[in-house]
Amino acid sequence: MKKALIFDLDRVLFNTDFLKRIDKGYKKGEPFCLKIVKRINWTEIEPQDLVYKDVYPKLNGWLKKGNKIYLFSQGDIRGQRYKLKASGLNKFFSSKNSYIFSPPKAKKLKNIFQKIPPDLEIWYFDDKLENLKTAKSINGTIKTVLVWRNKKKDEKNHLENILFKPDLIITSFREINKL
Ligand SMILES: [Mg+2]
Repeated sequence: MKKALIFDLDRVLFNTDFLKRIDKGYKKGEPFCLKIVKRINWTEIEPQDLVYKDVYPKLNGWLKKGNKIYLFSQGDIRGQRYKLKASGLNKFFSSKNSYIFSPPKAKKLKNIFQKIPPDLEIWYFDDKLENLKTAKSINGTIKTVLVWRNKKKDEKNHLENILFKPDLIITSFREINKL
Protein backbone atom coordinates (compact mmCIF):
# COMPACT_ATOMS: atom_id res chain seq x y z
CA MET A 1 0.00 0.00 0.00
CA LYS A 2 1.29 3.47 -0.93
CA LYS A 3 1.81 5.89 1.91
CA ALA A 4 1.22 9.54 2.67
CA LEU A 5 4.14 10.70 4.79
CA ILE A 6 3.53 13.84 6.82
CA PHE A 7 6.57 15.59 8.27
CA ASP A 8 7.00 18.24 10.89
CA LEU A 9 9.81 20.68 9.94
CA ASP A 10 11.80 21.71 13.02
CA ARG A 11 14.01 18.97 14.51
CA VAL A 12 12.50 16.38 12.16
CA LEU A 13 13.80 17.55 8.76
CA PHE A 14 15.38 20.89 9.61
CA ASN A 15 18.32 21.19 12.02
CA THR A 16 16.87 23.94 14.16
CA ASP A 17 19.58 23.60 16.80
CA PHE A 18 22.35 24.14 14.23
CA LEU A 19 20.72 27.39 13.11
CA LYS A 20 20.35 28.55 16.71
CA ARG A 21 24.07 28.01 17.30
CA ILE A 22 24.87 30.17 14.25
CA ASP A 23 22.48 32.94 15.35
CA LYS A 24 24.60 34.96 17.78
CA GLY A 25 21.62 37.09 18.86
CA TYR A 26 19.33 34.16 19.69
CA LYS A 27 17.24 34.42 22.85
CA LYS A 28 15.50 31.34 24.23
CA GLY A 29 11.94 30.94 22.99
CA GLU A 30 12.25 33.56 20.25
CA PRO A 31 10.23 32.46 17.20
CA PHE A 32 12.14 32.37 13.90
CA CYS A 33 10.97 35.30 11.76
CA LEU A 34 12.34 37.67 9.11
CA LYS A 35 13.97 39.85 11.78
CA ILE A 36 16.17 36.91 12.69
CA VAL A 37 16.80 36.08 9.02
CA LYS A 38 18.38 39.51 8.66
CA ARG A 39 20.76 39.19 11.58
CA ILE A 40 22.12 35.75 10.61
CA ASN A 41 25.28 35.59 8.53
CA TRP A 42 24.06 33.20 5.83
CA THR A 43 27.44 33.10 4.09
CA GLU A 44 28.63 30.87 6.97
CA ILE A 45 25.95 28.29 6.18
CA GLU A 46 25.75 25.60 3.49
CA PRO A 47 22.18 24.48 2.70
CA GLN A 48 23.04 20.87 3.58
CA ASP A 49 24.09 21.91 7.11
CA LEU A 50 20.47 22.83 7.79
CA VAL A 51 19.04 19.39 7.01
CA TYR A 52 19.83 16.16 8.86
CA LYS A 53 21.99 13.87 6.74
CA ASP A 54 19.43 11.07 6.45
CA VAL A 55 16.69 13.36 5.11
CA TYR A 56 17.47 13.75 1.39
CA PRO A 57 18.39 10.12 0.68
CA LYS A 58 15.30 8.87 2.50
CA LEU A 59 12.86 11.38 0.95
CA ASN A 60 14.17 10.49 -2.51
CA GLY A 61 13.83 6.78 -1.80
CA TRP A 62 10.32 7.10 -0.42
CA LEU A 63 9.18 9.18 -3.39
CA LYS A 64 10.66 6.67 -5.82
CA LYS A 65 8.44 4.01 -4.30
CA GLY A 66 5.38 6.08 -5.16
CA ASN A 67 4.68 7.51 -1.72
CA LYS A 68 3.46 11.08 -1.27
CA ILE A 69 5.08 13.54 1.12
CA TYR A 70 3.60 16.50 2.97
CA LEU A 71 5.00 19.15 5.27
CA PHE A 72 3.03 20.11 8.37
CA SER A 73 4.73 22.87 10.31
CA GLN A 74 3.98 25.68 12.72
CA GLY A 75 5.58 29.03 13.47
CA ASP A 76 6.00 32.40 11.80
CA ILE A 77 4.86 31.55 8.28
CA ARG A 78 7.40 33.70 6.41
CA GLY A 79 10.15 32.50 8.73
CA GLN A 80 9.29 28.86 8.10
CA ARG A 81 9.17 29.46 4.32
CA TYR A 82 12.62 31.00 4.57
CA LYS A 83 13.92 27.85 6.28
CA LEU A 84 12.59 25.75 3.40
CA LYS A 85 14.36 27.95 0.87
CA ALA A 86 17.66 28.24 2.74
CA SER A 87 17.88 24.48 3.28
CA GLY A 88 16.81 23.42 -0.21
CA LEU A 89 13.83 21.56 1.26
CA ASN A 90 11.61 23.67 -1.00
CA LYS A 91 12.60 21.26 -3.80
CA PHE A 92 10.53 18.63 -2.00
CA PHE A 93 7.86 20.81 -0.45
CA SER A 94 6.10 23.34 -2.67
CA SER A 95 2.98 25.32 -1.87
CA LYS A 96 1.02 22.24 -3.04
CA ASN A 97 2.25 19.84 -0.37
CA SER A 98 3.28 22.08 2.49
CA TYR A 99 1.04 23.36 5.24
CA ILE A 100 2.35 25.95 7.69
CA PHE A 101 0.22 27.37 10.49
CA SER A 102 0.55 29.68 13.43
CA PRO A 103 0.77 27.57 16.59
CA PRO A 104 -0.90 25.38 17.68
CA LYS A 105 -0.95 23.49 14.39
CA ALA A 106 -2.58 20.41 15.96
CA LYS A 107 -5.93 22.20 15.57
CA LYS A 108 -5.51 21.80 11.81
CA LEU A 109 -4.76 18.08 11.79
CA LYS A 110 -8.32 17.16 10.79
CA ASN A 111 -8.12 19.45 7.74
CA ILE A 112 -4.78 17.96 6.71
CA PHE A 113 -6.07 14.39 6.93
CA GLN A 114 -9.03 15.36 4.71
CA LYS A 115 -6.65 16.54 1.98
CA ILE A 116 -4.94 13.16 1.74
CA PRO A 117 -6.21 10.66 -0.85
CA PRO A 118 -8.17 7.97 1.05
CA ASP A 119 -6.28 5.06 -0.55
CA LEU A 120 -3.02 6.11 1.14
CA GLU A 121 -1.86 4.90 4.53
CA ILE A 122 -0.88 7.91 6.65
CA TRP A 123 2.41 8.08 8.54
CA TYR A 124 2.97 11.18 10.65
CA PHE A 125 6.48 12.18 11.85
CA ASP A 126 6.88 14.76 14.62
CA ASP A 127 9.20 15.43 17.55
CA LYS A 128 6.28 16.53 19.73
CA LEU A 129 4.46 13.69 21.38
CA GLU A 130 1.35 15.78 22.03
CA ASN A 131 0.87 16.37 18.29
CA LEU A 132 1.11 12.65 17.57
CA LYS A 133 -1.33 11.97 20.37
CA THR A 134 -3.86 14.43 18.90
CA ALA A 135 -3.40 12.89 15.45
CA LYS A 136 -4.07 9.39 16.75
CA SER A 137 -7.18 10.55 18.59
CA ILE A 138 -8.56 11.99 15.32
CA ASN A 139 -7.67 8.99 13.19
CA GLY A 140 -6.79 5.74 14.94
CA THR A 141 -5.50 4.11 11.76
CA ILE A 142 -2.55 6.44 11.16
CA LYS A 143 1.00 5.46 12.12
CA THR A 144 2.61 7.89 14.53
CA VAL A 145 6.40 8.22 14.50
CA LEU A 146 8.17 10.14 17.22
CA VAL A 147 11.43 11.58 15.91
CA TRP A 148 13.89 12.22 18.71
CA ARG A 149 17.05 13.48 17.02
CA ASN A 150 18.50 14.19 20.43
CA LYS A 151 16.95 11.32 22.33
CA LYS A 152 18.28 11.99 25.85
CA LYS A 153 17.27 15.64 25.93
CA ASP A 154 13.91 15.01 24.24
CA GLU A 155 13.02 12.20 26.59
CA LYS A 156 13.40 14.54 29.53
CA ASN A 157 11.25 17.24 27.91
CA HIS A 158 8.44 14.83 27.08
CA LEU A 159 8.11 12.87 30.30
CA GLU A 160 4.77 14.45 31.12
CA ASN A 161 3.25 12.83 28.03
CA ILE A 162 4.51 9.36 28.73
CA LEU A 163 0.98 7.92 28.79
CA PHE A 164 0.78 8.05 24.99
CA LYS A 165 2.83 5.48 23.10
CA PRO A 166 3.60 6.31 19.45
CA ASP A 167 3.83 3.45 16.93
CA LEU A 168 7.55 4.07 16.50
CA ILE A 169 10.30 6.07 18.18
CA ILE A 170 13.34 6.83 16.04
CA THR A 171 16.44 9.03 16.18
CA SER A 172 17.07 8.88 12.41
CA PHE A 173 15.05 8.00 9.29
CA ARG A 174 17.69 5.32 8.64
CA GLU A 175 15.91 3.22 11.25
CA ILE A 176 12.91 2.86 8.92
CA ASN A 177 13.27 0.30 6.16
CA LYS A 178 9.81 -0.83 5.23
CA LEU A 179 8.28 2.33 3.76
MG1 LIG B 1 9.36 20.02 15.52
